[in-house]
Parts: sequence; C-alpha cells; structure tokens
Amino acid sequence: MGRAMMGRSSRDQGQLFYSFNLEEVVPDDHPVRAIADVLDLSWVRAELAPHYSSEVTPKFVSPSDPAARWTGALRDAAFFAYADNYLIDVKFGIIMDVEASRAIRQAEVGASKTMLVRTQECFGIRPQWLVGDTAYGSAPNLDWLVNTQGISPHVPVIDKSKREDGTFSREDFIYDKARDCYVCPTGKTLTTTGHIRNGDLLAYLATVHDCRDCPLKPNCCPKTPQRKILRSIYEPARDVARALAKTEAFAQSRRDRKKVEMLFAHLKRILRLSRLRLRGPSGAQFEFTLAAIAQNLRRLAKLVARPPPIASVACFA
Ligand code: SF4
Repeated sequence: MGRAMMGRSSRDQGQLFYSFNLEEVVPDDHPVRAIADVLDLSWVRAELAPHYSSEVTPKFVSPSDPAARWTGALRDAAFFAYADNYLIDVKFGIIMDVEASRAIRQAEVGASKTMLVRTQECFGIRPQWLVGDTAYGSAPNLDWLVNTQGISPHVPVIDKSKREDGTFSREDFIYDKARDCYVCPTGKTLTTTGHIRNGDLLAYLATVHDCRDCPLKPNCCPKTPQRKILRSIYEPARDVARALAKTEAFAQSRRDRKKVEMLFAHLKRILRLSRLRLRGPSGAQFEFTLAAIAQNLRRLAKLVARPPPIASVACFA
C-alpha cells in the first residue's frame, strides 16, 4: 500500500495509451480542413483553461516518507510525523488498542472509532464511558458515541455559540423541542426551514417584523435585521456531554487522564520513541504496536508482581 502511494507502476501500461498526429491522419482535401481555415476556435482553450486539472504540489513533502504529515501540533518547530493513538483502560493503565494515523484531528478521531470497534470485535469489550480531550468533542463524534455506540462521552464539548461582544448568546434562548424552535427573551419564536448547512447545522431565524421594533435588539442583533441561531442536528448528543461535564464522574475522568499522559511521556523519555525507524503508515503502526506491547508487559509485571515470601526464621535457643 505504501509503495502504491509513492508512484505508478511503469510496466504493462503502454497498451492503455496510443497516440497519433491529426495533421498526418486528416487528408488534405477533407472538408474539416476547409472549416478549420475559416473558424478560429483558439478562444475555447482559454475559456476551459481554469477547469483543467493542474498539478497540485503539497507545500511540504517528506522525501523519505511522503505519507508522513507536516505538523506544528507541539507548538514548536514543525516536523513530519504520524500520530500514535491509544485506547487505554484507565483503571489498570492497560493499552487496549493502538492505531497510527496522520497527525491531524480528523484522522485522530477516526482512529479512536477504529479502535473502539476493533476492541469490541476482538475482545467483546465496549467501554461504558470514554474520556478524551476537546479534539473528540465535535458534534458528529459525540453523536456517534452516544447514539450509535451507547458510550457516555466524558469529553468537553466544542461550543462556539458564546458571544464575546455582550450580545445574547445562544444559551439566552430556550429550545422548544416539541415545536422545534427557539424562544427568545421576549417570547418570540425562531424557526428553521430544515435546510442543513456545513454538514450538520440548522439555522433558526426570528422574523424581521419581530426584531425591528424590539427594545432588546441592541443586545441581540444590533447589526442584522433579524436574529439567527445555529444549531447542530447532533445537539441532543452534545447536551448529553454537557450534562455529564457537570458530574463528579467527569471530574474523576479528568484526573484519570493523567495516566494517559504518563504513558506518552514514558513512550518518549524511557522508550525513546521520538523518531521512527520504519517508513510508511504500516511502519508507524508496527513500531507503535511494539512500543505498546512493551508498555503493557511492563504494566503487567507491576500488577502481578508479588514480594517474595518472608522466609521463616528458625530460632535456636
Ligand atoms: S431582537 Fe428579535 S430575537 Fe432578539 S429578543 Fe428581540 S425579538 Fe427576540
């Protein structure tokens, strides 16, 4: 798979192509030559030029491993990397699964799904709750966890609805589930057409008539004729995550996450896995898996090790 991504096979492709010269195959007395003499179609090429595919060259490509991703995620000098994703049983600190991915958020979220499904298929184990950072708090991912997997997300919700300019935020409006509308502070309704934008967002709009003469307009929508609120179609799952975030179990989960950080610190400082020796996604997967096995064996040794029995002391008098 890695090799296929790095270039095309040069063998057995000649039969797929053939070439000829129009000048050579069209006879001199063919009517098409008479037409070509009077018709200037050169403008067609100029019109279509923007629609031709052009060679897109990525800004940074690793010469030794083109599949590695250029990342500045550590807020230091950027470098080529793969992300090492772990699924960890935080109670015992055991790594249940490992998945190498590109070092971008979407790929890491995809890796978490892969690991959850694989762990269920391999061991028949599905966690009751999942602890993760904000990267896993997107609305579609929360919906997948809550409604597809039945897993409680102990994950902070990504919420950009809070307004910083002093005007009403979305939380100042009440969502009426039965009528599928928002009710504003003056009791007016904001409704939606049901058109989904950006993949998962519905827009709820007040009427211009209601907002125009509203005394609260300067605090609500001072620059627009009517107030608009965006709501994800996955909002019920986000509400579940928001409610969990107020519980003591969630606070405990935040503390348990330190075990995850410790494993990654151990990976770098003790196992010194800051540089991969193998190339390609499968090489990264192989090295990450080996490192996880080493960490699990170390953990296992700590869990099962017992101090040697105290030797009975003979006492001679
Ligand atoms: S401006 Fe419109 S949406 Fe805002 S409070 Fe007034 S009526 Fe309600």
